[in-house]
Amino acid sequence: MAAQETVDHKYVYDFSEGNKELKELLGGKGANLAEMTNLGLPVPPGFTITTEACQAYLATGREPDGLAGQIEAHLESLERAMGKRLGDPQDPLLVSVRSGAKFSMPGMMETVLNVGLNDQSVEGLARQAGGAAGQAASGGADRFAWDSYRRLIQMFGKTVCEVPGEEFEHALDDAKHAKGTHNDLDLDADDLRGLVDAYKKIFLKHTGREFPQQPREQLDLAIRAVFESWNAERAVLYRRQERIPADLGTAVNVVTMVFGNLGPDSGTGVAFTRDPASGAQGIYGDYLANAQGEDVVAGIRNTVPLQELEQLDKASYDELLGIMARLEEHYKDLCDIEFTIERGKLWMLQTRVGKRTAAAAFVIAGQLVDEGLIDLDEALHRVNGAQLAQLMFPRFQLDHEFQPVAKGIGASPGAASGTVVFTSARAVELAAEGESVILVRRETNPDDLNGMIAAKGILTSRGGKTSHAAVVARGMGKTCVSGADEIEVNVPAKRFTVAGQTVTEGDVVSIDGTTGKVYLGEVPVMPSEVVQYFEGSLDPEHIDNALVRAVHRIMTHADGKRRLAVRTNADTGADASRARRFGAEGIGLCRTEHMFLGDRRELVERLILARAPGEREAALAALLPLQRADFEEIFREMDGLPVTVRLIDPPLHEFLPPLEQLAVNVAVAQERGEDVAKEEALLAAVRRMHEENPMLGLRGVRLGLVIPGLFAMQVRAIAEAAVSCARNGGVAKPEIMVPLVGAVQELETVRAEAEKIIAEVVGDSGVEVLIGTMIEVPRAALTAGQIAEAAEFFSFGTNDLTQMGWGFSRDDVEGAFFWRYLELGIFGISPFESIDRDGVGRLVRIAAEEGRAARPGLKLGVCGEHGGDPDSVHFFHEVGLDYVSCSPFRVPVARLEAGRAVVETGGSDSR
Ligand code: PEP
Ligand code: MG
Repeated sequence: MAAQETVDHKYVYDFSEGNKELKELLGGKGANLAEMTNLGLPVPPGFTITTEACQAYLATGREPDGLAGQIEAHLESLERAMGKRLGDPQDPLLVSVRSGAKFSMPGMMETVLNVGLNDQSVEGLARQAGGAAGQAASGGADRFAWDSYRRLIQMFGKTVCEVPGEEFEHALDDAKHAKGTHNDLDLDADDLRGLVDAYKKIFLKHTGREFPQQPREQLDLAIRAVFESWNAERAVLYRRQERIPADLGTAVNVVTMVFGNLGPDSGTGVAFTRDPASGAQGIYGDYLANAQGEDVVAGIRNTVPLQELEQLDKASYDELLGIMARLEEHYKDLCDIEFTIERGKLWMLQTRVGKRTAAAAFVIAGQLVDEGLIDLDEALHRVNGAQLAQLMFPRFQLDHEFQPVAKGIGASPGAASGTVVFTSARAVELAAEGESVILVRRETNPDDLNGMIAAKGILTSRGGKTSHAAVVARGMGKTCVSGADEIEVNVPAKRFTVAGQTVTEGDVVSIDGTTGKVYLGEVPVMPSEVVQYFEGSLDPEHIDNALVRAVHRIMTHADGKRRLAVRTNADTGADASRARRFGAEGIGLCRTEHMFLGDRRELVERLILARAPGEREAALAALLPLQRADFEEIFREMDGLPVTVRLIDPPLHEFLPPLEQLAVNVAVAQERGEDVAKEEALLAAVRRMHEENPMLGLRGVRLGLVIPGLFAMQVRAIAEAAVSCARNGGVAKPEIMVPLVGAVQELETVRAEAEKIIAEVVGDSGVEVLIGTMIEVPRAALTAGQIAEAAEFFSFGTNDLTQMGWGFSRDDVEGAFFWRYLELGIFGISPFESIDRDGVGRLVRIAAEEGRAARPGLKLGVCGEHGGDPDSVHFFHEVGLDYVSCSPFRVPVARLEAGRAVVETGGSDSR
């Protein structure tokens, strides 16, 4: 090995010196080329300049000391190995200069091919190519050499010297025009020689200098350009989007050129060791004879299936299959490969662990366990919750060409087609007749709940990922597109307009809650087999479905590994029962607000409007048995498991009609001389309760302290339901949760009253009722030590904690400005979607630590939307919570991720 020992820091590695573990230093491409070289596979010789050299160059604007000498030494060694010199006029060694970062950034950075060609060596290349191919092919050899040269000037000009690419394109078009053709391949050697002249003139015009003829200068400039391409605008944007750190830098691979365009016995191709779409074993790939890699991308000619290579060149085909099997066994994973055949000799240009669909990820992980290549921990590590979530939603069969008419926020994934309706009532009506409906609203509110339950999907023109529509739809596992603001919804007229078209009630639309796309007409939908499995209608032991079997196996392993329990957020018996089938181990949040809607609205109005003595008590007494029945149903469904019931949270005016509508009704009725005493009283109450910032107003525990008897009624209903459940032979484990607590005194006041009621109701029934609080106000997190004195459990309400921690209104900001924050990289993902570890996460950590310090047995959970977000689940595992709680459809995702969190933190934690 020729590396110079006189310099301290090693910046250049021969392919024989690296290995696949060195991705950080050598980039993915370089590390894998080294790995293949060391496996003895046919890799064109070359070397890799490290990411550290790039970082040093980007920091100082010049190559680090010692780099030039190390490149020289490695180049000499390469020349010796190949028996050729870079750019030699007789028989030139040519190299490609390729970027390759730790994480794949396809097409984002630069590559320069054919470095080493100049006015002399182009002739040498033609002679060599022709000589080897025989006299008859020498015309082709000339053409090949001049085409290679013009490609170098074009790529070098564009990449290294920022010559506008269109200039070269225009010159190429002119040459084709002069020849009367549209096809590059019709240009002969003379045409290409002329094109080289034209390209050189373009180069001179834009750079003020001749195209460099010194091979080593070409190489140095190309390397520098690859370093600089790390900071090209598109690369910066890509990194931001993919959350790739900006300071990694790229490695540069200098690789001996091999040519797939030297005749019919040459070619180039790509292959996968298994089907990246389904995971099935077999031979998957494409081949293009007599072509270079870039021709495949440009689609100049159609590729053929890889199997056809067997007829064209059996020896290379057999060798390739052997190499693919070897690579899979070595990498213990699906690999993707790029290769070139130069006159019957196979060369491996790249391999890496291949990207795959969600289904293939599970299937392949299962297969590799069967083949003994990996164990179940590794299989668990190789899949993720986002993939599982994808597999749980129905999908559109987009084989036909469907064009979206609008794009909103993919608020709750899945695919739904149905008849458009604009009101909850109509949705219920049509659904009862067996029709699939899509409920279209500007935004939804709690009154739309029945319509949302009845609908196949929900489409709104306003609101973000935590809007009412989004949260409720996700909870139900229902497809929802929110904030599709190109859509103008006119509910009274029962129509919406979009892209100049009008859609009226009864028309059919299709919505994709994953992509946020909206289509007119019906797009066919396929149900999810994975959901059928979770629901118990597919038995993995008895069906021939590789995906379901793999999911079953990996989920079982995750359950065995995880330390976090997984509960669900569920407000109805139906949700509770579905979540239980999905593996929920209790309810972490039963919101009670919807229990005050529908038929009970009138009672709530009486409660709010109560003036005369006894009126409020009467309303509460009427609500009590209704609430009790609600809880009985939920306790029944969750028999034996804990159920956290949250006392009512939202401001009471949400249960009253909107101010404007009521004011208009009253005015109209007065005009007509009708008796409006009741409506006037209602209007006065609505005015009294109106708040500028209701989310920061009279809600949660504040409401409980202001309206006497409200919380007491709920506590009694919970305790009575639990006792009744126990009397019927069941086991109810209620946990009463107080919302929006900011000070321990609030909790103490509620607790004192609740304890009295519980003691009175429970008696000697054996029912145990815990009392705890949400931690969702920053002050509560910061005084958790005090609050824990009065709480048997904490449940982090990370929706409000994010809202109040950042000072972002959860209903408004996502549509208003998050796009800009994401664009600027202020955050990589909405903090409402994935926990902001540094800020809101820190509040959680402080509260968990200080709460547990004050009360060692304190039970800790989370019930904000983050409880079902994969990355956040890992965070909650790290912080040491006892459970996460999420919407029923997210329960399997949380189970999987809780298992992965153990595997990834190196634990052998088993419950
Ligand atoms: C929360 O704030 O995180 C929470 C679970 O409560 P809600 O979403 O009902 O405000
Ligand atoms: Mg909350």
